[in-house]
Amino acid sequence: SFEIAKKQSKLWEYDLSQNPNKYRVLTGDRPTGNLHLGHYFGSIVNRLKLQSLGIETYILIADYQVLTDRDIFNDNSNYVYELALDYLACGLDPGNYKTHIFPHSHIPELNQLTIPFLTLVSSSELNKNPTVKEEITASGMNTINAGMYIYPVHQAADILFCKSNVVPVGKDQLPHIELTRKIAKRFNKKFNSNIFPEPVALFTNSPLILGLDGVQKMSKSRNNSIRIKATADETVKLIKSAKTDSNRRISYDPVNRPEVSNLLKLASLCSDKNPIDIADEVGDQGSGKLKQITAEAINTYFEPIRDKRKELEKNKDYVRDILHKGISKARKTAIETLSEVTEVMNMKI
Ligand code: ATP
Ligand code: MG
Repeated sequence: SFEIAKKQSKLWEYDLSQNPNKYRVLTGDRPTGNLHLGHYFGSIVNRLKLQSLGIETYILIADYQVLTDRDIFNDNSNYVYELALDYLACGLDPGNYKTHIFPHSHIPELNQLTIPFLTLVSSSELNKNPTVKEEITASGMNTINAGMYIYPVHQAADILFCKSNVVPVGKDQLPHIELTRKIAKRFNKKFNSNIFPEPVALFTNSPLILGLDGVQKMSKSRNNSIRIKATADETVKLIKSAKTDSNRRISYDPVNRPEVSNLLKLASLCSDKNPIDIADEVGDQGSGKLKQITAEAINTYFEPIRDKRKELEKNKDYVRDILHKGISKARKTAIETLSEVTEVMNMKI
C-alpha cells in the first residue's frame, strides 16, 4: 500500500501546484532531539515546497507524544525551542503569516477531539499498527502505557483539528495517515456532517533515510543520526563511523548494499548528481573515499542553514514570539473546529 500511496502522492503534487488554495498542511515532529537529515529529506523539503506555493501550514511540536515511549521524565522543554530554531534555519518562515509553529500541549481544544475519535476505532485496529509495534520495540519498554497504544488517535486530532488535507511525512507515518482518514470518514458519517477532510500523505523522493547503522530508520532517539545543526567536523566524524561493507568497489544497490547505498543517497540529495554517477566516481576507492565525498556534500549543502541557525540562536525572544503567535493562531482554529464538533454531537448547552 506504500507504493500506491507514493503514486497518489505524485498526483497530489501536481494539483497542489495548480490549486494551492484548496489545501491546508499539518505536519510535525516530536521534541526528543534536534532535527536530522532524515527529517530534512523525508519531510522538510516538501514543507518548504508547499510554503512556497503559498499554502497555509501548521507545524506542530508533539510534546505530549514524547510521554508515550519512555517511563522516565526527560525535561524536553528546551527541544521545543531547538525544533523551532531548526525549522526557522531551514527556511520555514512564519514571517509570511501562513506558517504557524506551536506545541500541541498548548491547544486544549485539539486534545479534546481525541475523546470522540477514540470511540471511532477498534482496539484490534490499534493493535495492528506496524509503526507503533516498531516503536514499542525500539523503546525497550517492558510494559506499554495506554498513551503509546492510542497515540495514533491523538495524532489524528493533531491533523484534523485544523482540517488539514495534506500531511508531508516519512514512510513510517503512512499507517497513521490511513487511520486518520478512517476517523474523518467515520466521524462525518456517524454525526451526519461534513466537518473533516480525509487527508493524504505527501512523500518526498526519499521517504526513508536510514541511520548511520545502515539498518534502522535515521531517528533522533536511536543514536544513528546526523543533526542538521551538526558542525562540519561532527559531520565528518559521524560519517566516518557509518557502517559500510567490505566490498571496495562502490555500487548503488539499495536492496543488497543498504549501508553504502544510503551514503550514496545522502551524497546525491546534497548535490545535483545521481547516486549511480557518484558510485562510478568512487569506483574501487572504497568506503573511505565514499565517506569523504558524502561528508563534503552534506557540509556544503547545510552550511548556509547552519550559519543562519547560529544567527537565530542569539535571539531567543524572537523564537518565543513565533511560538506564542503560532499557539494563538492554532488555538483559534481549534476552538472553531471543536465548536462545530460539539454542535453536530448535540452537546451544546
Ligand atoms: P523519535 O526517534 O523521537 O521518534 P524521529 O527521528 O522518528 O524521532 P519524529 O519526530 O518521530 O522523528 O518524525 C517526524 C517526521 O519526520 C515524520 O513525518 C517522520 O516520518 C519523518 N522522519 C523521521 N525520520 C525519518 C527518516 N529517517 N526518513 C524519512 N523521514 C523521516
Ligand atoms: Mg518517530
